[in-house]
Order: sequence, then C-alpha cells, then structure tokens
Amino acid sequence: MSFGPHITRRDFLNGALLGVGGAVLGCAPRRQIGQDGARAHWSLGPDWYGYGGVGDYRFSHGNTPEVVETAHRMRDRGLPADFARVDTIENHDLVIVGAGIAGLGAALEYSKKRRTGQTCLMLDNHPIFGGEAKENEFDVGGVRLIGPQGSNGFFVPAVVSDVEKASGDPRYYAELGVPRQFRFRDRPLEEKPLRFSPDNYEYLVRGLERHTSVGHFFSAGPPGEGTWAIDMWERRLANTPLSEAARATLLQWYTLGATRQFASDEQAVRALDIMSYQEFLEKELHLGPEAARYADLFLASACGLGSDAISAYVAYQLPMPALTEPLPSDLRRVSFPGGNSGFVRYFVKRLIPDAIAGTDSFEDIITGRIDLDALDRTGQPLRVRLRSTVIAVEHEGDSRSSGAVRVVYTRGGRLHGIRAGAVIMATGGWMNRYAVRDMPPEYYEAYGRFVHAPYLVANVALTNWRFLHRLGITAAIWDRGEGDFGYTCNIRNPMQVGHYQPPLDLEQPTILTFYTPFHHPGLPLRAQVTQGRMELLNTSYPEFERKIYAQMMKLFARSGFNPAKDVAGLILNRWGHAYSVPFPGFFGGASGRAPRDIIRNRHGRIAFAHSELVGWQHWGPAADEGRRAFNQLADAM
Ligand SMILES: Cc1cc2nc3c(=O)[nH]c(=O)nc-3n(C[C@H](O)[C@H](O)[C@H](O)COP(=O)(O)OP(=O)(O)OC[C@H]3O[C@@H](n4cnc5c(N)ncnc54)[C@H](O)[C@@H]3O)c2cc1C
Repeated sequence: MSFGPHITRRDFLNGALLGVGGAVLGCAPRRQIGQDGARAHWSLGPDWYGYGGVGDYRFSHGNTPEVVETAHRMRDRGLPADFARVDTIENHDLVIVGAGIAGLGAALEYSKKRRTGQTCLMLDNHPIFGGEAKENEFDVGGVRLIGPQGSNGFFVPAVVSDVEKASGDPRYYAELGVPRQFRFRDRPLEEKPLRFSPDNYEYLVRGLERHTSVGHFFSAGPPGEGTWAIDMWERRLANTPLSEAARATLLQWYTLGATRQFASDEQAVRALDIMSYQEFLEKELHLGPEAARYADLFLASACGLGSDAISAYVAYQLPMPALTEPLPSDLRRVSFPGGNSGFVRYFVKRLIPDAIAGTDSFEDIITGRIDLDALDRTGQPLRVRLRSTVIAVEHEGDSRSSGAVRVVYTRGGRLHGIRAGAVIMATGGWMNRYAVRDMPPEYYEAYGRFVHAPYLVANVALTNWRFLHRLGITAAIWDRGEGDFGYTCNIRNPMQVGHYQPPLDLEQPTILTFYTPFHHPGLPLRAQVTQGRMELLNTSYPEFERKIYAQMMKLFARSGFNPAKDVAGLILNRWGHAYSVPFPGFFGGASGRAPRDIIRNRHGRIAFAHSELVGWQHWGPAADEGRRAFNQLADAM
C-alpha cells in the first residue's frame, strides 16, 4: 500500500478499517463476482474500501463494504426477514427508507403536514445521510479541503413567487432559503490567465466549456507519448491531430442548434424516446461516429452510459448539440464545497436543527460539524437512524385492506422490526424489488426494466498543481486507450464559505477530481452495466490507486507531476447503482406507457420515491418524488 507523504499510516487505519464492520474484516480473501453479475458469493477484501479522509464523512465514502455485502446477501435471499425473529419492535406513523434527497423531500413534506403526535422514522444503510449527495474532506498540511462524493452542481434556479405552486429546483431553493450569490477566488492579475469550472461538469457542457482552460490529450506512439490540444473548441480543432474528416464531423455536430422543433413535451417524447442519441445523430442527421463518441463524455458523466444507450429525448432535455440551442455563454454552474451535499445539509438543518452545529447561516450549514447523536433522539417527531438496512417490507394481510406495514431492518448484526402506518421507499428499484416482499407482479416487472449504471468519483488531494499550471489547463480530457483509467478530471475554483477559504494558488493544496463512468459502447445495455459493476467492485483500493497515478503520470509526467511529492491522499467513492439509465423507451416512447408510471402508483400503504423515476437524475426532482410519495400516503397515516 502506498501513501501520499501527508497521510500517515494511522490516518489510513482510522479511515479505512474502523469504518468497516467486523464481518468484513474477518472475511476470507476476496472472491470475484460471477460473469453474469449475479449469484456469486459476496465478500470484499480488507483492502477494498481504502482511505476515507478526515471529518464527519470519513467512514462513509461511496457505498461502504457493509452496504455492498448486505445488499447482495439480500438479493440472494441470504438474510432472514421474519418479523417473528426481530429483537425489538417500534411503532411509527411513517417510515421513510433512504436518507437521500428523495427521502429528505418526503421528510420535509411530512414535517409540514404531520398531525400532532405523529412520528416518522427514517432509515438509511450508510453511516451518514445524503445518499449520493455526500462529501469528502481532506486535511493537507493544515489546509481543509472539501469535495463532492457524487452529486455535484447546479444552475441557480429562477426566483418563484409562490413556493407551494412551484416544483423541482426553484421550489426547494426558495423553501430552504439557499443564497443566490456566492464567492469564489479571484486569480491575481499577474498570474497566467487560467479559467476554472466552479464544478466538475461545466467544462464538458457545450457552450460553457469556454469558461475553463481545457486540455485534450491525444495519445500517439509509445505509452505516455501524445499531444495536448488546449481550448480545442475555441480553436475550431485546428490544434488537434485529428484527420480533416473527423474535424469536419465534430465541428458540424458541435455547432448545430436545434434541428427539430416540438409543439409539446409529449410530442418530443413520442418522436425522440424511440431511439438513442447515437441513432439520432447517425441515422437522422447522417453524422460520422466521432460525434456520438464525443457526446459520450458528457452523457456518460451525467447519465451513466453513452450516446448508444441514452434516449434522444434526454439529449433534448440536456443541452446536447442538434437538439437544443447552445446555452447562453454567461450561464454558470455552481458547486458547494461538497457538491449537492450542501442541499442535503439544508434539508437536515431544517428538519433536525441540532444535527448540524451552529446557526442557520449559509456558513454554518455548509461547514458546521454534524452531531450524529441528535438524529435519533426519543420524542422527536422525525428520527433518522443510520447504518440500518431495511431487508423486508410487507403489509399485514391484504395490501388493499391492511392497517399497517411491517418493516424489518438489520443494524449492528441484529434484526429490528417496526409497525408503520405507511412506508415510503426512497431507494432505487434494484433494492425495492427485493425489500418489498408483497410487491405486485406489475411493479416487479416494471422495475425489471430499469437499468442502473455504476460510477466512481475519485478525489485526489494535491499538495500543489504546478503540473497543470505549466500545461495551462485546469481540466483534462483524454482519448482513452487500452489500460487507461477514466476520461476526464479537473480542479474547481472552490467556493469560499465564511471561514472555509480553500486556496487557488498553484503552490497550495487543491482537489483533482475524476468523474468516471463505466461505459462500453456497442455492448447491450445490461452487459455494459454488469461489466462496469464488475470493474468497479472487483478492483481493490491499491489497484485503483495504481491505475489513477499511472494515468496521471501518462498525462502529466512531462509537465513535472511526481506522485511522491504532489499527492497527499486519494479517496474513492464507488456507487454500484449510481444512475438509472434513461434508455430509449424509458419515458414511454411511441406507446406513451413508461415503466415508471406503474411505480409512481401507491401500493397499499407503500409508495415509491427515488430520483431514478425522473430519468436523468437531479436534485430538485428527486425531492419532488419524495413529496409526491408522502402526499399519496397522507391519508394512510
Ligand atoms: C456521480 C453523480 C453525480 C451527480 N451529479 C449531479 C449533479 O451535478 N446535479 C444534480 O442535481 N444531481 C446530480 N446527481 C444526481 C443526484 O445526486 C441524485 O439524483 C440524488 O442525489 C439521488 O437522491 P435519491 O434520494 O433519489 O437517491 P439516493 O441518493 O440513492 O438515496 C437513497 C438512499 O437510500 C439508501 N438505501 C437504499 N436501500 C436501502 C435499504 N434497503 N435500507 C436502508 N437504506 C437504503 C441508499 O444507500 C441511499 O443512501 C449525481 C449523481 C451521481 C451518482
């Protein structure tokens, strides 16, 4: 195991081992997952999870080994779920399973509409709340650095006059009182004029990439050899080694505005949700394959798989060439220090104020320490219980006339039970299919059509970023070759929040972030996600560490990168089911019948809420799903 020079072995042990349950530590050497991604025995080695950083999130970065193992034992029906075998039984009016943004959206609605005396228990299988919207924290030689674990950034939404009538981002932005102005670092005028994305996506978005100094690396010759094309779109690809024909195709695609107009959203669904974006580009517009491959960078980053797998309707919703006009050039993305963990913290502060130290100022909410003990106190109308995996949810008797739902969850190796008036499953279908024991066949089949893609967010803490400065870039994109890791990485202009003042100085620490999908264009959808999950879950921390530093050497050794001096630490955030892939037909296609329409119906006293139902996952609509689920069940409590 190699360490960056600023991470001591003790830090590593604290981060990596203490957060892992005894069952995992005591396990036999790691066994591989079966080729079909199913049925093989699950057991992750002690070197799987790795360093978790410092601070409140250090034991919960990506899916924990316990979560992965418990989930797979559940899938293989290896966990007893009999209510008669539980150690304790509690009663609650409402149980919310999942403390991600969808679950928090449900909890917020409950907190506003609950009747006196009603109680709600929220359960989540991770050691901290937030789901995919969590953060990592490093301490590099006394400099505190915070980065996102997954959910990343946003556009500041429009102001709304009536919150209750609004939905999505504008509604929650207003309701939670999130500020609309933020502070970022200015670069000293005498410095090289580098441009930075404030988040980890902006440099991939057509039209917004001009705000960032982006380098494209084209491999050529022996490993490590190649050329950089800086700001290649601004230079109309003239500085790339691409052939004339490839440049012409890419430029034609990149500069295309909306080639189709639709009178309504429904019309757009029927016309576009019947083909992939790649099919749209190649069959409808007769563009060469270069366009679809370049589009993969953004689509796989935002939806898990590339343009061969993603519905053309999603490309119409997202700012993709040929289906939308370029975004206005003054539009900017924003990212809180820990990405959309910032929104989660706003929800939690509103729901259980003592859970985050300090006042309800922006600074305190974003940077205050978390008090886990405040989450689950007797007598609170809302209690949040972490490290608790729900393994069985079932109505007492017939779901149409039942008076209660039985919930079984496992915590600390023991089984616990709850009798609830209603249950919101704010978790994904990959889990709900196994947890909800009396799920009607049509729901089960509808969930069976969902496809979930894995994802890895790797945060590398740097002691300095001279090697990027020498190249004149703050974001890198590479044409991935055999054995390469990832596709893109960047350093953000980090948001300044009160006393949290991360530097933006090439001699000072910063975080280099790799957003890494696992897509294999050309393979069937399910084969792509299964293979990706195998890569994600079968690779140990030291193996990923080696691959990431090797990739950085390939890209940056010639501009002076030296891992022994420049790297202070690495945190891996592995998400086994990061995104629901919005494939052609996800939204109903030509028939107008979408699997999600079935899932959005209430099943007795159980309702389903997860951002996967939205199609391309996003923070505001995630909370809307939770609110919808609560309102469907309000009369059952
Ligand atoms: C890499 C990445 C980048 C993203 N970037 C952006 C972005 O820039 N902007 C944006 O708006 N959105 C982004 N998103 C999407 C957005 O973050 C998600 O849509 C949203 O956070 C998901 O919220 P959720 O509550 O639906 O699900 P989740 O966050 O998945 O929360 C569900 C919770 O339920 C838990 N759970 C599941 N099963 C059980 C069980 N049986 N028992 C107990 N607990 C259980 C899960 O572990 C999890 O904690 C990104 C997502 C990813 C993965």
